[in-house]
Amino acid sequence: MSIANNIRAVREGLPEAVTLVAVSKTKSVDEIMEAYDAGHRIFGENKVQEMCEKWETMPKDIEWHMIGHLQRNKVKYMAPFVSLIHAVDSMRLLREIDKQAAKHDRVIPCLLQLKIAEEESKFGMTETDLTAAMNSEEIKTLHHISITGLMGMATFTNDTDQLSREFGRLKHVFEALQPEHPGLKILSMGMSGDYQLAIDHGSTMVRVGSAIFGARNY
Ligand SMILES: *Cc1c(COP(=O)(O)O)cnc(C)c1O
Repeated sequence: MSIANNIRAVREGLPEAVTLVAVSKTKSVDEIMEAYDAGHRIFGENKVQEMCEKWETMPKDIEWHMIGHLQRNKVKYMAPFVSLIHAVDSMRLLREIDKQAAKHDRVIPCLLQLKIAEEESKFGMTETDLTAAMNSEEIKTLHHISITGLMGMATFTNDTDQLSREFGRLKHVFEALQPEHPGLKILSMGMSGDYQLAIDHGSTMVRVGSAIFGARNY
């Protein structure tokens, strides 16, 4: 299978309302261009420097999403162009994104990451901290960010009961916040191995890498 065929196959399998982020981390410009030439425009990267290099050389109608854990000192490099930051996990990081976005006269859309994995290693906010951040007075003063949704990363497992629990919890927190925060539209959950299940649980944005580009060599 070619990258072009893979991406068509993944897209055809998605409901209309679900956005596909093609996760292109570690992949070359040539490989990404195969997906681009097949009509795809939304790509996700997890390293700021790699994303900046690709942004510089690639067509400017690409929407670049930062999907990885983010350090505050790297925000400035992508502030001119990043379209969506998926994994925001602290008010300190939000403040920095707001500050850098202001310098470019932009409003950068952000997703707050909820820690849903039952395993230890994954990043994200607790439900208590996330809800407190959403309801804080401070967040209303950050005019150069907008929180457009939530993101989560499930445990790396084949246990569908566990995955269902984790996705279900994210959906539950999302729905609990929505009445007070109608700007929450995006629920970013699901990767190559579990995106169908994530969609069953209400995902509106899936982040799919290896099912499109093949396995990654680190
Ligand atoms: C790498 C990555 C993905 C894509 O993983 P695949 O299993 O290759 O689809 C999705 N989300 C995040 C945050 C990632 O880092």
